[in-house]
Amino acid sequence: MIVCFKRCDEAMLRAARAVAERLVAAGHEALFAGGCVRDAWLGRPFKDIDIATSATPDQVEAIFAGQTVAVGKAFGVVLVLYDGYTFDVATFRTDGDYADGRHPDDVHFGTPEDDALRRDFTVNGLFCEPASGVIRDYVGGVPDLKARVIRAIGDPVARFREDHLRMLRAARFASVLDFTLDPATQAAMMAHAAWIKWVSAERIASEMTRLLCESPRPSVGLRLLRVTGLLREFLPEVEALYGTEQPPRYHPEGDVWTHTCLMLDDVPAPRDPVLAWSLLLHDIGKPVTFCRKDDAEDDGNQIRFPSHAPVGAAMAEVILKRLRQPTALIEQVKAVVADHMRGADAEKMRPATLRRFMGSPVFPVLLEVMRLDIKHSNKQSAPWLFLKEAFEAFRAEPVLPPPLVRGRDLVAWGIAPGPRVGAMLRELYDAQLEGRLTTREEAQAYVASLDNN
Ligand code: ATP
Ligand code: MG
Repeated sequence: MIVCFKRCDEAMLRAARAVAERLVAAGHEALFAGGCVRDAWLGRPFKDIDIATSATPDQVEAIFAGQTVAVGKAFGVVLVLYDGYTFDVATFRTDGDYADGRHPDDVHFGTPEDDALRRDFTVNGLFCEPASGVIRDYVGGVPDLKARVIRAIGDPVARFREDHLRMLRAARFASVLDFTLDPATQAAMMAHAAWIKWVSAERIASEMTRLLCESPRPSVGLRLLRVTGLLREFLPEVEALYGTEQPPRYHPEGDVWTHTCLMLDDVPAPRDPVLAWSLLLHDIGKPVTFCRKDDAEDDGNQIRFPSHAPVGAAMAEVILKRLRQPTALIEQVKAVVADHMRGADAEKMRPATLRRFMGSPVFPVLLEVMRLDIKHSNKQSAPWLFLKEAFEAFRAEPVLPPPLVRGRDLVAWGIAPGPRVGAMLRELYDAQLEGRLTTREEAQAYVASLDNN
């Protein structure tokens, strides 16, 4: 079986082959390993080529003197800088025990087969010869690529016990590659989902973000996380969307979970993380605000979620902080969740309110969430069309022009510093946005008239 490296940077491929040739010329074995072999076989684009070799880290450093960084030398990994590219060059190894459920305690250098057997899934355990592309499959990875299956190498329970993050990686790879999970691998995840609690929040979040952003259909991964019980462990709030009923009149598509999945699946990958997390969390306030009005006349419209947007925004903040996400992402997602219902009233907004709304840095994300929300439910599309057109018109000019008047101007014009300054500035800016004030002189006259009243 030969694998063809087409969908990667050609110069990177040449450089990787040159690194491998230098190792071979020095009497060692060198193979391309792991993800790049899998992706090349599948015809998927990929960004890096990892090299596995019989040379020890010291030998790699000697061969590429002055071009190496010993980042993971203890684990047998040396970075080789070559022709402007950086390659992971890792010595064939077996991993020792995993006392912490995440990192091997020690490593031992070994054969290519040992190195294949320490990897997580069969499709990630492949090697190929750099020049010819001939595959070396010690773990049954090629049959699993053909069958499109994610299968742990060896005993799945033992492999997940060594490194609990692998459970999440299994769901992420199945979702991103659109593969199924081997039943024994899935059963091990179901039995030991609670182990995921021992993995750091950052690592969990990074797998989750990749699942949400890179999957052709994130619903595939979300379903796997739910049925294995993993989701309940680290995102119980999202799990709660499942089975949360909605009024059929507005949501003929089904429960909040279904609605959320339809929206995520409708955005082509790769998705922007702010959009992906906003979509996942936009209705996160619904399960906790759910109420049923039994006395409603309209049968189909008994279910309500009062204040679910602000409640959801607060929950989104808690969730993303718990997952140790960057502040910028938290703030943006929070703003989208908080405002995701506001657009419905866009046509009734005062011009200044509308312009402020459109001036928000997250407005484009908000507009996209709104479009998908309407498309995958039974809501009016008129407010969205209105907003889209208004936004296009405003985009030609700066959406929020610099204010004509600042606080120091007001003070210079005799307004005493204090809370009144803020209120006045706001009023002046509204008047400016609505076109009632166009010059500083007009603004000053306006301030004088207010002051006299
Ligand atoms: P991608 O980069 O798209 O996530 P990848 O397969 O390259 O896919 P990496 O995380 O870059 O994944 O790891 C490279 C290789 O190292 C994997 O293909 C796998 O063989 C091995 N590997 C990575 N993480 C683990 C792990 N937690 N347990 C065992 N093997 C692993
Ligand atoms: Mg990789």
